[in-house]
Amino acid sequence: MTTVITEERQTEAQQYVQSVYELVIQRNPHESEFHQAVKEILDSLTPVFAKHPKYMQHGILERIVEPERVVSFRVPWVDDNGKVQVNRGFRVQFNSAIGPYKGGLRFHPSVNASIIKFLGFEQIFKNSLTGQPIGGGKGGSDFDPKGKSDLEIMRFTQSFMTELYKYLGPDIDVPAGDIGVGAKEIGFMFGQYKRIRGGNEAGVLTGKGLLYGGSLTRTEATGYGCVYFVSEMLASKGQSFQDKTVVISGSGNVSIYAIEKAQQLGAKVIACSDSNGYIHDPQGINLQTVKRLKEVERKRISEYVKEHPHAVYTEGCKGIWSIPCDIALPCATQNEIDEQAAKLLVENGVVAIGEGANMPSTLEAIEVFLNNQVLFGPAKAANAGGVAVSALEMAQNSMRLSWTFEEVDAKLHSIMKNIYQSSVSAAEEYGHPGNLVVGANISGFIKVADAMIAQGVV
Ligand code: GLU
Repeated sequence: MTTVITEERQTEAQQYVQSVYELVIQRNPHESEFHQAVKEILDSLTPVFAKHPKYMQHGILERIVEPERVVSFRVPWVDDNGKVQVNRGFRVQFNSAIGPYKGGLRFHPSVNASIIKFLGFEQIFKNSLTGQPIGGGKGGSDFDPKGKSDLEIMRFTQSFMTELYKYLGPDIDVPAGDIGVGAKEIGFMFGQYKRIRGGNEAGVLTGKGLLYGGSLTRTEATGYGCVYFVSEMLASKGQSFQDKTVVISGSGNVSIYAIEKAQQLGAKVIACSDSNGYIHDPQGINLQTVKRLKEVERKRISEYVKEHPHAVYTEGCKGIWSIPCDIALPCATQNEIDEQAAKLLVENGVVAIGEGANMPSTLEAIEVFLNNQVLFGPAKAANAGGVAVSALEMAQNSMRLSWTFEEVDAKLHSIMKNIYQSSVSAAEEYGHPGNLVVGANISGFIKVADAMIAQGVV
């Protein structure tokens, strides 16, 4: 049945969305990243409210923009010089309509309430898109792991978990990694949680080591998933990664495994970066070197050119987007592609963008891509592979068994295909064919909204 959407309905929906957006700004002053994430979603949802006024009647938007719970706490620890250090810890439990809160922990000096809220808000819709029963949450600290010894990291993470454990549980809230939090940090936090709880609740954290409940393919999942998603976008135009030139920012977990999968599919990846600068290797990046430098030796990416002198290192990160390429995968951090960078990419003939990082493109940059018919895979959809495999890790923990690499990889691949399909369908149904920003937002939203309605005003 087709619903006739009158102009009146359209205006009512627009006014509703605008009023909730204004409320968010008023209630959360100075939180620009959170405002940005909310604006992107809200702008996409107007056609949903015009078509289904029930979501307005149930106050879904007013409720969904307000986290169910926010905790902020002191994290005191002692550094290697015996000096007391104090950091701030956060956990935002945003929405539990479809499952326990789920989302990573970020340790980075830039972390504040706005950053954690934008990430937690995005996570609601991303997790819904995976089709798995996981709600949205996020946490972290302004602790900077860079340059810290292993013992300092252990003392900090133990102190962090000594407060955070009160809010966690395999059926309550399940953190994982994000920027600055990898297998080492998860291991220390799992050890401390187990010690405090006095029992082995494997499903309380994901991204665990393989020896104590981790899942095969979790390490690779976000990067591989992003490339699987972009492959689907390319296939819709009869194209693939084969022989394409690719620029991938970052050199952390997401970036490294995006490079690996893109190379496996026959692409030439010619650039990557860290927070100091970027390398351009026209012959194609040697991934073994990047992995060793970053995963083992924990050195700067500038070291790469010492081993590969034909490559060029440039200080500063923005310039990476001036390198001509067919496909760009921003896998570093939020707002790394602004309007100017987006225009440059378009001028240089970019065909597809896949967001491996969370919110790496500004709203203006997204507009540039969409207006120029660039295939654009938004973060919520394109980087959902990480959290999707986290949910598979939870499933294996509950069953007390583990699947093979091939089994998990095949499930990841089919989840990414499903996310692509459901985003395409929602975009079409709501009058924005080909716009995956709108499609992903609507598809992720509807499931959560329907679950909220079913559960009453809570
Ligand atoms: N931090 C990742 C994300 O942004 C993974 C979260 C998880 O595995 O829970 O989705």
